[in-house]
Amino acid sequence: MYLELPPKVSRILTVLQSHGYEAFAVGGCVRDAVLGREPDDWDITTSARPQEVKALFLHTVDTGLAHGTVTVLLGRDGYEVTTYRIDGEYEDCRHPSGVVFSSNLEEDLRRRDFTINAMAYNREQGLVDIFGGMEDLQRKQIRCVGEARERFLEDALRILRAVRFSAQLGFSVETATKEALRELAGNLKFVSAERIQTELVKLLLSPHPDFIMMLFELNIDRVILPEIREQEEARECLEEIAHSLCLVPADRFLRLALFLRPLGERQAYQVLRRLKFDNHTTGIVRRLIRWYGCELKAEPAAVRRAAAKIGSGLFPMVLKLQDTYRDVSKVQEIWNEIVREQHCISLKTLQISGNDLIGLGMKPGQAVGDMLDALFQDVLENPEHNTKEYLMKCADEMLRKPMQ
Ligand code: ATP
Ligand code: MG
Repeated sequence: MYLELPPKVSRILTVLQSHGYEAFAVGGCVRDAVLGREPDDWDITTSARPQEVKALFLHTVDTGLAHGTVTVLLGRDGYEVTTYRIDGEYEDCRHPSGVVFSSNLEEDLRRRDFTINAMAYNREQGLVDIFGGMEDLQRKQIRCVGEARERFLEDALRILRAVRFSAQLGFSVETATKEALRELAGNLKFVSAERIQTELVKLLLSPHPDFIMMLFELNIDRVILPEIREQEEARECLEEIAHSLCLVPADRFLRLALFLRPLGERQAYQVLRRLKFDNHTTGIVRRLIRWYGCELKAEPAAVRRAAAKIGSGLFPMVLKLQDTYRDVSKVQEIWNEIVREQHCISLKTLQISGNDLIGLGMKPGQAVGDMLDALFQDVLENPEHNTKEYLMKCADEMLRKPMQ
């Protein structure tokens, strides 16, 4: 089998080989190249020890020397070059107690999680596929390298990776692998929130986000999403949620919001915190859940008012969410027009500022804010009023009016 390697990957392989070492592209990049998908990154495995790799390339970074990984920098691109290794005993379902370098490719492939991730390739030897990865790619199935139970016992994250790859590729999980998944799902409690978060997001952003149902079928939710399991209402609408996930673009905010919405804003927030999501993501998802069900009248002033309240960044996302359960085409059209016409829907683009009002003689303070807000409300109703001239005149008149 011939696979096209990026020129820089070929260069690294050639340099290593011409110094007497073995070197292959390995893992996810080989899988993706065989499938005709663009690999995210190209990893290289070699018989050379980290210090030997470092000696051969001008620019390297010690990414994980203890695990045998050196990043080789060529121009702006970095490639992880890892020495063949055997992982030591796994003590706590997550980390090998140590790694031993090896000079045998087969041993390196054997430590990898799934057969489709355990293939290596270089031009000279072609595809090295010892565990039947090609066959599983053709059968469209995820299968562990070796004994599934053992592999999940070594590293419980693989449980979640199996579901994630299945969703990314649209593959099924082979029977023995699935049985082991179900049996050992509880061990995910040993895995850090950050690693769970990464896999969950990849699953949600995959072409088959509805495969999220597997988490519930295999009892994985009990450990990573107990909040959903405990809330009957949320459990009841899972199928509907899974379906709706397929109706929105692969955007982390939209898909997280749809997925966690049945929990309600507060509990969704707690889940996001527990899974160590960053503040930005947490804030946006929380607000999306808040506005998911809000009423939106298909009428220009009402749409401007809603967009002003929700925020112009979030508003189109709320439309995409509502599009999963009702017809929002009219509101969408109105919104497009508002954007096209650049109607003012935020104080930031109001053509009058607090300083202008102070220039008219107002004292800094609450009254300035109230006046700005009154003018803004008027502009939301009548976008054509958003000119400095009009608003100054209007403010001036209001200031002259005797207090009632
Ligand atoms: P992605 O498209 O997400 O990058 P990938 O297959 O490249 O998918 P990585 O996490 O980048 O996944 O890992 C690269 C390779 O390292 C995998 O293909 C697999 O061979 C191996 N690997 C990664 N994580 C594990 C693990 N937890 N257990 C065993 N092997 C693993
Ligand atoms: Mg990768």
